[in-house]
Amino acid sequence: MNGVLRSPLDAWAAYKTGAGSAGLSRELLEAYQLNRLRAAIRLAYTASPFYGQLLAGVAETGLDSLTDLQRYPFTTAEDIRRHGPRFLCVSQSDIGHVVTLASSGTTGPAKRLYFTPEDQEATVSFFRSGMVSLTAPRDRVLILLPGGRPGGVGDLLLTALKQSGAEPIPHGAVGDLSAALAVMAREQADSVVGIPAQVLALARWADYSGIKIAVKSVLLSTDHVPRAVIRELKRLWGCEVFEHYGMTEMGLGGGTDCAAHAGYHLHEADFYFEIVDSVSGEPLPAGEKGEVVVTTLTRRGMPLIRYRTGDISRFVPEPCPCGSALKRLAPITRRVGRYVSLGEFGRFTLADLDEAIFAVRRVLDFTAAVDSFANAGELAISVSAAGQPAGDGGRDIYDALESVPAVALARRAGKLKVAVRQEACQGTLAPSTGKRAIVELNNADGN
Ligand SMILES: [Zn+2]
Repeated sequence: MNGVLRSPLDAWAAYKTGAGSAGLSRELLEAYQLNRLRAAIRLAYTASPFYGQLLAGVAETGLDSLTDLQRYPFTTAEDIRRHGPRFLCVSQSDIGHVVTLASSGTTGPAKRLYFTPEDQEATVSFFRSGMVSLTAPRDRVLILLPGGRPGGVGDLLLTALKQSGAEPIPHGAVGDLSAALAVMAREQADSVVGIPAQVLALARWADYSGIKIAVKSVLLSTDHVPRAVIRELKRLWGCEVFEHYGMTEMGLGGGTDCAAHAGYHLHEADFYFEIVDSVSGEPLPAGEKGEVVVTTLTRRGMPLIRYRTGDISRFVPEPCPCGSALKRLAPITRRVGRYVSLGEFGRFTLADLDEAIFAVRRVLDFTAAVDSFANAGELAISVSAAGQPAGDGGRDIYDALESVPAVALARRAGKLKVAVRQEACQGTLAPSTGKRAIVELNNADGN
């Protein structure tokens, strides 16, 4: 290979699949996955009231190959909201951790995910192997993630780092930028783990305040990581930037990129991934973009079978320069249905706005709201910048939006009004869970 270090997730998957010193191969991995899938389906069908019903008539026939799974029904976020505890394969007393996710709409029950201590241990072991890419033993790692309470993402990462011999510095999500920078300097952090928009704001605030920061690596974790943020962190801090893909439903660990930085190597010993057409549900050939569907292979408490994640991405079919046997997922570009339609002019997503607006160097943070195109056709961008607002009314933001074709076309045609509001950042960020969205006004969001 050409000098790119093999993804450390390979060694971990080799261990989990029993491939041992023979090394991990697709054949071994897929044989392992087929066995695990059979066991996962058997467990779900026999122990969970929800799956007992859902899989009746299909679970009995078994699986001859991985593609046989395509005969199985999907599960959705709506199923989890509606049936919650009926998903469980263990008694409630065996559950060690429950995560409640507020639903994106304001009505309806919240989504609850249940984990046994063993389920959480699987996440810790994934984090431990994933962090090998960016940290050496004894490295000091600043954790800028929410979820510091026991069992939360910050807490599991803390445990994983301790086990791997690194020195974690728990902090929580960033609120006060100067205070977080002071902690970074005082603790002499070698690495930082955080939410992309927050770490970007931190780097730009340090630059604005004339504070020199030296970190070796950054790990960004969220649903989508803007390329503009990666470029800027490399420019300002000269560090290597890694990305982590995960969601609560996956127990937080889904995949991590390797030193080639060319997609997330997937956590295939604990999950089976598919990409399907987000409308028809039909499986798509490798390389085509669609919805990410995940089946848990080792989950005990609340297994998920063919769970539609709502994330849109594709497998990268070419082998990775690092030589890993694990599949790669391209960066997530959007969530299913999470785009704003501008009719004949096309559509855009938050990811499009992120790439355009975060590329403007004075921007620390921004929010976007859109009035239904049919109604008023207004896109309101509220930018928080370092220093006083530019005197030209935010010309650079208007210029940046030219790179979003639907917005540029609709604006030029006089069908979309763009309003840019600017404010000087006072050194604090709004509370964030890492899930940002375009606010839609006057629009019954049908998703
Ligand atoms: Zn790789």
